[in-house]
Amino acid sequence: MQHPYESWEHCPHCSKLTNCRIFATEKRKIFYDIDLELNMWIKFVECQGCQEFFLLYSKENPYGQTGYDGELECTTSTVPISRNEDELCKIGHFKISLDDNVNEFANLLYKQIMESIVYKNFIVAAAGMRTLIDTFCIAKTDKDIGITKNIDVLVSKRFITKKQSNVYKKISEIGHGAVHRYHIPKKQSLINGIRAIEDLYNILFSFPEYEKIVSKESVPPDTRKSKKA
Ligand SMILES: [Zn+2]
Repeated sequence: MQHPYESWEHCPHCSKLTNCRIFATEKRKIFYDIDLELNMWIKFVECQGCQEFFLLYSKENPYGQTGYDGELECTTSTVPISRNEDELCKIGHFKISLDDNVNEFANLLYKQIMESIVYKNFIVAAAGMRTLIDTFCIAKTDKDIGITKNIDVLVSKRFITKKQSNVYKKISEIGHGAVHRYHIPKKQSLINGIRAIEDLYNILFSFPEYEKIVSKESVPPDTRKSKKA
């Protein structure tokens, strides 16, 4: 379809069903579940009633035509575009640097989680977090025996403590509940979760790099001690 074209949509600014102009449509692959081939569409829309802009955000039903239990059928949401603030910046821009094979995937997934939080697609965000934790575990240990056991391997190899592992298992449960039980998590618990995942990245990948650099630093010996002795 040629852009721009008109379509009847519910405007989140004036809360009316109006003829809207669609200026751009972007199709993106959804990464949140490795086993599913899914797409989402983001449309840049102008309401012809109030002249405000918004994003129309829709995704494929992951359970196909037969449906899961009907609850996931409605997967379209609209998000008003605020011209004064960029909420994405507030949530964070984190640069993940992993092995080449998984680097692009991990960065796209991380970006998708941020966008899903901002666009209020909390189910996608929660599911994505689970996949991201799993990706970090596999990248670090080369073992893939299911996310719960993958997290346990981090503990057995002493990368994280048992107490820390419970946090990542809880985030993983939230993702599982979102996808399979349609439990919609709160925005704040997703933001807490993404912070914890950033910490996990730092523990597993950033800190060992700093450790290598810092261990090479040379500092002159403390002579005060030897004088006293
Ligand atoms: Zn409007």
